[in-house]
Amino acid sequence: MKAAVIGGGPAGCAAAYTLRKRGWDVVLVESQDHVGGRTSQVQRDGFSLGSGALFLMGGIYPRTNAILKEMGHYDELIPWDARTHVIDADGTRYTVQFDQVLSFLRIPAMSLRDKLRVAAGVARKLLSPGPKLCFDGAELARHDGGESLETWSRRVIGDKGTDYITVPYMGFLYAVPMSWLSPALFHAVLKQFFRLSLSVPPKGMGQICDWLVEASPGLDLRLSSPAERIVRTDGGYTVHAQGQALHVDAVVVAPEPGVAADLLTGLIPESSATKLRECLYSEYAHVQVCYEQNPWPGFPASVALPANMERDWGACVLLSQRHPSAVPPGGEAVGVYFYTPPLANMTDEEIVKSALEAVREVYPPAPEPSFVQLFHYERGLSIAHPGHYGTLDSLHAEMPEGICLAGDYFAHAGVEAAIFSGELAADRLTGARQAG
Ligand SMILES: Cc1cc2nc3c(=O)[nH]c(=O)nc-3n(C[C@H](O)[C@H](O)[C@H](O)COP(=O)(O)OP(=O)(O)OC[C@H]3O[C@@H](n4cnc5c(N)ncnc54)[C@H](O)[C@@H]3O)c2cc1C
Repeated sequence: MKAAVIGGGPAGCAAAYTLRKRGWDVVLVESQDHVGGRTSQVQRDGFSLGSGALFLMGGIYPRTNAILKEMGHYDELIPWDARTHVIDADGTRYTVQFDQVLSFLRIPAMSLRDKLRVAAGVARKLLSPGPKLCFDGAELARHDGGESLETWSRRVIGDKGTDYITVPYMGFLYAVPMSWLSPALFHAVLKQFFRLSLSVPPKGMGQICDWLVEASPGLDLRLSSPAERIVRTDGGYTVHAQGQALHVDAVVVAPEPGVAADLLTGLIPESSATKLRECLYSEYAHVQVCYEQNPWPGFPASVALPANMERDWGACVLLSQRHPSAVPPGGEAVGVYFYTPPLANMTDEEIVKSALEAVREVYPPAPEPSFVQLFHYERGLSIAHPGHYGTLDSLHAEMPEGICLAGDYFAHAGVEAAIFSGELAADRLTGARQAG
């Protein structure tokens, strides 16, 4: 049997890897000249700049961990001790550990009563039914009651718990207002808070896709080959990509959902295409402010998160502390990650200016940076609003035989969501799992 996989991000690479493991012939077509998608690294003047993803999240990424173990790379992950400053509106800083949600309870701006409210809310959620996997769309759909994270969090852990825990936490992960999000993921994270830890592959997050390709001997990888059309042919499909016609028995479609909808025109009902096209994506920008000489060696926290949404940015990260090979020896880079809403009214110049102001606010005075690199995406992160998971999950059963969708958008943006969906698509095609 032969499959085409369209898209070489973590979802497509995981699908190709799993299909090869099950003995299928696989051709992977990727529009860029490299695999990795939104986890890719960009090399500039000795810096390895992450264009998107920053870290893996330990025990809440079970399928990613299992595949990394299977490929023999799990032990190479570099743990990241994400010591964090939560910065209040007046500039006061509180030190916590991003991977230890309960360390946020040390924040003195929360009274004993606030802390008891948080502890009681977390305990109730630990004991109540809730999603067991953080990035399985079907599982999240079962626990998505239509409420927003904003109202859920204020109800479950109170106003102070929301301002000092939910907002900085989910703001760093998704950079959108809490009212845009379903609570299902945060609920799942609270249920598994003791499994959280952060790590990065030695060459950055982009290395995960390189490893998946390397571990798929015989994979026919076609880079710089955007898929243009999928046509049903006798007993299978033909994928047209960059002037080539690839005849296959089955297709995994793993680019972003709007592209998937275009490629599947004529093969799926218009109502299914609409679900894909209406999948919400946030605008996203981050700026990497790079220094050949580290102005702040030994700075006591690698992450800074605002406790509220009054600033434009949602996180500042010292990248050498996260992942040493991100910078040349002795260098430093600050990643400044922006909230989505202000971006609608900001030019690229204003985003860069605001990033430099954030660096001046968070760190001691420093000389001019060596250079500044802006990454700005019109469609950066898929966002799961209330009702999202159920709508998207229903798509699996609406695909024609031999076509499977994969991509992080079935859950929340995240490498685990992508890898989970890619593996699932391959399992469905090979009959290892049933659709629906
Ligand atoms: C700024 C930022 C920070 C992030 N931080 C984290 C993090 O810390 N941890 C984490 O786990 N996740 C993080 N993420 C999310 C993570 O990067 C995504 O969840 C993941 O990359 C999604 O994988 P995917 O394969 O579904 O999609 P993508 O990575 O987008 O891959 C899709 C691929 O399809 C290709 N493609 C598109 N159209 C075609 C076509 N017509 N033909 C062929 N190929 C095509 C694209 O070029 C791309 O390579 C972050 C994302 C961003 C943007």
